[in-house]
Amino acid sequence: MTVPDFTEREDESFRLGLRGWLESAYAAFASAWPGGADPRSLDYRRAWEDTLCGHGWSGLGWPKVHGGRDLPLSRQAIFHEEHARCGAPLGVNLIGHGILAPTLLHFGTEAQKRRLLPGILSNRDVWCQGYSEPGAGSDLASVRTRAAPASGGYCLNGHKIWTSFADRAQWCFVLARTDPQAPKHKGLSFLLVDMRSPGVRVEPIRQITGEAEFCEVFFEDVFVPEEGLLGERNQGWKIAMAAASFERGTYFIPRLVRFAQELRQVRELSLRADAHGHVPASSAAVRHRWARLAADSHVLALKSQRALSGAMRGDPPGPEGSSTKIHWSEAHQRLLELSLQLLGEDACLADGATDVRAADLTHAYLWSRAETILAGTSEIQRNIIAEQMLGLPKA
Ligand SMILES: Cc1cc2nc3c(=O)[nH]c(=O)nc-3n(C[C@H](O)[C@H](O)[C@H](O)COP(=O)(O)OP(=O)(O)OC[C@H]3O[C@@H](n4cnc5c(N)ncnc54)[C@H](O)[C@@H]3O)c2cc1C
Repeated sequence: MTVPDFTEREDESFRLGLRGWLESAYAAFASAWPGGADPRSLDYRRAWEDTLCGHGWSGLGWPKVHGGRDLPLSRQAIFHEEHARCGAPLGVNLIGHGILAPTLLHFGTEAQKRRLLPGILSNRDVWCQGYSEPGAGSDLASVRTRAAPASGGYCLNGHKIWTSFADRAQWCFVLARTDPQAPKHKGLSFLLVDMRSPGVRVEPIRQITGEAEFCEVFFEDVFVPEEGLLGERNQGWKIAMAAASFERGTYFIPRLVRFAQELRQVRELSLRADAHGHVPASSAAVRHRWARLAADSHVLALKSQRALSGAMRGDPPGPEGSSTKIHWSEAHQRLLELSLQLLGEDACLADGATDVRAADLTHAYLWSRAETILAGTSEIQRNIIAEQMLGLPKA
């Protein structure tokens, strides 16, 4: 990737131009949505993501030869910040844009890139990530899904679980065992599987929020052609580990912008008198909790900035990401617990039609229960910090 040397003034003018476009495009999109804006709905999120892609806001860091914009990380960061700032929700093809595309650009053959990148760029193809299984989550290398050699490719059999967006996905990247005799990290391959293939079955799982964002996926004698193998056979672990590092630098940006927005809402709630005239912010305990969260917000922004600078310098990913993951996910849960206490019964009664803010915060509270689990649980992140930062013996 060529890295143009933008001046601060040029970056600022890029930011302001983008902000103006996002504000008007998102307002127009939201007001045209039948029944009014509905950022929690997956259809709404997908349609807005399609709009962004249709206006060229995808493939930001990809080389131009593949239809990308070849923007440096600093400008990608500005995009993520401004996108979150305008209040638009994240899309449903996060895994395609954020994980699979950079992995394909790094490890794919030219033929694979030409075949699969256009569908991500236009958002026609949604991707899901088929790693976790009922017996392999934190201990991912224990996956048992088996890809046995078959004429011209592989025969895939297995059971994946917690696969986000699988019921909307056209494609899935699957970690599967291709050498059952090899040590567990060494016998895995990274397969690109067409979800429309015969033998793929998807069963949505309903979450505490009421939505079914993730699913169980069953592969029963699914044929995966040889061109569906990414990288070399039995090198899947190396690719999966690299795939996990590609979002470094930008992953937390929208989440931290959202954190700061929610923090402002919680402040407003704490200044609102209840039916008995009591103002929650008059309690030192509430002020103390809010102040701690404000400090969290500030420190997290600095950590995110440090990760971005490291990624821009090309530093290898380190265990600092684990510290940010724990800090953000646990502080976010505390923030939303406080918001629920301030909302009181409104948290139970609100729906999008009566009180959008209360409904959004309640939904965020319920969703946040997953944040200390997904992408590596807090316990696993603490193990990484203990071993790699503090030098403690392996668990
Ligand atoms: C909202 C959501 C979306 C997800 N999306 C996807 C997806 O798209 N694709 C996908 O493949 N997966 C996905 N996952 C799965 C996620 O990666 C796993 O849930 C996670 O890795 C934990 O694995 P597990 O659920 O099997 O729990 P387990 O690994 O069984 O862990 C159970 C408990 O034991 C603890 N534990 C386990 N091992 C250790 C240890 N060595 N030391 C200390 N404690 C330990 C854990 O911290 C946890 O508290 C998603 C999960 C969620 C919640």
